[in-house]
Amino acid sequence: MKQIRTLIQMTREDKDKLMQAYAGALSNDKFKKFISLLKIEDDLLMKYTSRLEDACLEYNNCSNCPGLSACKNMEKGFVLTPEQRDKTLIFTYKACHYKLKEDKDKGYLNNVYLFDIPKQIKMASMKDIYKDDANRKVIITKLVTFLKDYKNKVTSKGCYLSGSFGCGKTYLIAALFNELAKENVRSAIIYYPEFLRNLKESFDTNYKEKYETIKKIPLLLLDDIGAENLTPWSRDEILGSILQYRMDEELPTFFTSNLTLQELESHLSFSTSGVDKVKARRIIERIKQLTDEVQLVSKNRRDN
Ligand code: ADP
Ligand code: MG
Repeated sequence: MKQIRTLIQMTREDKDKLMQAYAGALSNDKFKKFISLLKIEDDLLMKYTSRLEDACLEYNNCSNCPGLSACKNMEKGFVLTPEQRDKTLIFTYKACHYKLKEDKDKGYLNNVYLFDIPKQIKMASMKDIYKDDANRKVIITKLVTFLKDYKNKVTSKGCYLSGSFGCGKTYLIAALFNELAKENVRSAIIYYPEFLRNLKESFDTNYKEKYETIKKIPLLLLDDIGAENLTPWSRDEILGSILQYRMDEELPTFFTSNLTLQELESHLSFSTSGVDKVKARRIIERIKQLTDEVQLVSKNRRDN
């Protein structure tokens, strides 16, 4: 009996403490206003004072916010929001109206599948392509022509874009794919060396499926070809089959590489045996059929 009494007493003490903290917080006008908007009983709210203060801060951050880039909240584009569930309060991160609008506007980007490519590439856009450099003219013309042709259902070759590290190769092709994504065209940007590593390790499992999807996707970029560790299997069975399929089906295919096509040929004939040379030649012939070769000599953009 004595024990039970102590227990009730402790609970009361705790309750008093919670009440005090809550009352203290309510002396802040912003908090008071925030609480009044919730329309939830004080008895429940007082158990969550410190969390409610966090939510109140985020709510107020939102009230004068000009846009996503100025977001001050913990999770950019989200606001910590309390909600009553039975006899408890739960706190969830809700997307703000700017974030919802952006997601709606950018929903088309789900058409671009990325494999081991930084997500920022989804920001790449044709209108932001650097045009400050005369060396970029050839590739930009190629991309603009491709875009026009593809929209008009004219079959157009992809492109084999070679150039030094960081000059913007991946960005340029991604900008094209992002643009066509708006027209509901599905595409994939595959970081080829990593894709191959994964494929080798688990070809029999889920990668077989990924491989099939990539082979058949309407637009494909094999990014950084030539940087992979090569085996006859990956050259002939994997790359060879992807290229053959895409040639037969007339599916536009793009490549970026630090190597020119000629250098890629040496890379692919990794032994000096005649057989390897013939097989490497065959791959190069397929790439040539699928693409126009463009070299981009431009400065490193990575530190911009
Ligand atoms: P590469 O594939 O040739 O190594 P990237 O395409 O990765 O080079 O580009 C290097 C960096 O420069 C990336 O961070 C990319 O986002 C940026 N970049 C390249 N072109 C542009 C551009 N037109 N506008 C904005 N950023 C760009
Ligand atoms: Mg790249």
